[in-house]
Amino acid sequence: MQCPDDRTELKAVSAGYESCVRCQGAVFTEPAFAAKWPDIREMLQPEHDQDSGAWARPRACPNCQKVMEPLRIQKMLAWIDFCSACNLLWVERADVPVLDGRLKQRIRDQKMAAVPQEDREALASALVEADTSHRKTVQNMGRAHKLLGGMKKIIWPF
Ligand SMILES: [Zn+2]
Ligand SMILES: [Zn+2]
Repeated sequence: MQCPDDRTELKAVSAGYESCVRCQGAVFTEPAFAAKWPDIREMLQPEHDQDSGAWARPRACPNCQKVMEPLRIQKMLAWIDFCSACNLLWVERADVPVLDGRLKQRIRDQKMAAVPQEDREALASALVEADTSHRKTVQNMGRAHKLLGGMKKIIWPF
């Protein structure tokens, strides 16, 4: 397969994953995409707004040459191109950090959801109190810090 943007012959990175050495764009099969960005595929929705930037420069599928369909990454101004005939996704270099960011956020959300409700409420009220009560600020910030310290490695693993 060739890069749809600069016609460079794509190089295999791993099974179902080939990349362009020139522009760093890459083509993925659905399983290869799911292996690199687990559960992110469901965040990609077809872009129906023809006036959006996604349709400005249609990209041809590197396999069948048909025009690929832009899939929007949530509400972000970033799109992944998809060929439903070949089940291939084209990821531009600029979209890699966007997908990586979505994946990190998703992992944080999952870990936060695993924190007991009681601890989350205690943290929230400690922060509110620390913010509103000047007299108790030092004491409450100490409490919030203690709670945050315990949650830090859960919420910010990177
Ligand atoms: Zn290229
Ligand atoms: Zn195709």
